[in-house]
Amino acid sequence: DVTATKGNEFEDYFLKRELLMGIYEKGFERPSPIQEESIPIALTGSDILARAKNGTGKTAAFCIPALEKIDPEKNAIQVVILVPTRELALQTSQVCKELGKYLNIQVMVSTGGTSLKDDIMRLYQPVHLLVGTPGRILDLTRKGICMLNHCSILIMDEADKLLAPEFQPSVEELIHFLPASRQLLMFSATFPVTVKEFKEKYLPRPYIINLMDELTLKGITQHYAFVEERQKVHCLNTLFSKLQINQSIIFCNSVNRVELLAKKITELGYSCFYIHAKMLQDHRNRVFHDFRNGACRNLVCTVLLTRLVSDLFTRGIDIQAVNVVINFDFPKTSETYLHRVGRSGRYGHLGLAVNLITYEDRFNLYRIEQELGTEIKPIPPQIDVAVY
Ligand code: ADP
Ligand code: MG
Repeated sequence: DVTATKGNEFEDYFLKRELLMGIYEKGFERPSPIQEESIPIALTGSDILARAKNGTGKTAAFCIPALEKIDPEKNAIQVVILVPTRELALQTSQVCKELGKYLNIQVMVSTGGTSLKDDIMRLYQPVHLLVGTPGRILDLTRKGICMLNHCSILIMDEADKLLAPEFQPSVEELIHFLPASRQLLMFSATFPVTVKEFKEKYLPRPYIINLMDELTLKGITQHYAFVEERQKVHCLNTLFSKLQINQSIIFCNSVNRVELLAKKITELGYSCFYIHAKMLQDHRNRVFHDFRNGACRNLVCTVLLTRLVSDLFTRGIDIQAVNVVINFDFPKTSETYLHRVGRSGRYGHLGLAVNLITYEDRFNLYRIEQELGTEIKPIPPQIDVAVY
């Protein structure tokens, strides 16, 4: 199971007692999944390239090992945390100060948009951990005021942003001021090409942590029914009457068909919302929100929205109420199929997918099955409710 945490405790990492106290005082009871992955690896000294969604606790995932590794007796900058903005620098230093409350670690923030002189003055006093933006830190380093020769850990938070054109040259130059044995920890919610190229250059063998939710068909029972185009509504009606639908999403391949089908479904006496690509984003979101809150049992959608919808799925929003997905129109690519029918692996959902297949769809059905390595079976007369 990808999902569940390993059940580790912060005690399992053999952290300094004072650091543990800071962690608990901050109210962290257990490590989050990204922390469970990163903390022990970072403590071994390995480079890390980690990807996890926003709000998953990446800050502590790198601050905890950084604080653990700093020797407060040694008067030198031992860790640099690079971030793209001043706000994030302030936030991050705050987290370091809170977690390190009982450690005698000096944290300094240094970013553009503030007095360089103040930074210079501050650097005359001991600093163990420096948090800031690349330009200012490079500036101070070039001047020989910020000394990075004892800095053994460089952390890049929001690495994708740090590798934007305005920062990347400074970041690269800064790296050359660090000892060759430096440890590099990169955290990001996305891995664009820039991150991949940077990785090739500076992290030849990083430990890669990827906690993005992947869509999976595991747990989804998939069936198809051969129909003629003109039988589709009738077939849908039969499904509605036979299946135990908690909530359903029904996909069509065009805006027009969504509107027509929504009308038909309402005429059949079932409640139904619809969303399609020609509706304003705001309106779509509102409808989706209401649907999610259970205002309606069925939602008809176009292809173009599957991304929006699956995004919401993967964000783990309680769309668990949807137990049936119907491809009223069968998609043309396996990617679309996966976005419509797949669920984020993390929740281990059960679900039912029913595909209405016309003569023209046959080949696509076979191909999509092959490409996704999955099985879509003929629909039986009865489907056991236990599977969805
Ligand atoms: P990210 O950088 O991944 O977007 P943050 O590091 O900003 O996430 O953390 C998001 C929120 O989760 C913060 O409010 C943080 O205090 C909280 N948090 C982080 N780790 C834990 C934990 N182990 N237990 C409880 N809350 C946590
Ligand atoms: Mg963050």
